This record gives sequence, C-alpha cells and structure tokens, in this order.
Amino acid sequence: MPLYEYACAGCGHRFEVLQKMGAPSQGVSCPKCDGDRVVKQLSTFASTGTGTGSSGSLPCGATSAASCGSAGFS
Ligand SMILES: [Zn+2]
Repeated sequence: MPLYEYACAGCGHRFEVLQKMGAPSQGVSCPKCDGDRVVKQLSTFASTGTGTGSSGSLPCGATSAASCGSAGFS
C-alpha cells in the first residue's frame, strides 16, 4: 500500500497516510487540527525540491525564471 503525503490547508501541517492506490482524499483529516481541508501532495519521491530554496533548479527545467513558462509552451 502506497504512502501518500498530505498538507493541511488549515494549519499547514504535513503528514502521511497509508492508502490504497487511487483512494480518494475524502475522509482524510489533519491529525493536528482535525481539519478536513487537506491537499494530497505529489509523491514524496517527486517533491524533493520542497523547502530547499536553492536556485538553479526551476520546476520547468529552465535555467532562468524569465524563460520559465513565459515562452515556448504558451
Ligand atoms: Zn491541520
């Protein structure tokens, strides 16, 4: 069973939930504030850039922010 990461929209707490593949996020609530406004995050394997704040690795793979999203694919 895969482990899904959630972020609470109420308090910002991040937590992980074991769920069946493709299970809906409904019914998942924040263990900290018990809020049900939780957002499923991308796999922890894919979200390595979160919170590092380092430069040089933009999400789109461009080398500068100017060329990120403003050109090419619009
Ligand atoms: Zn919360």
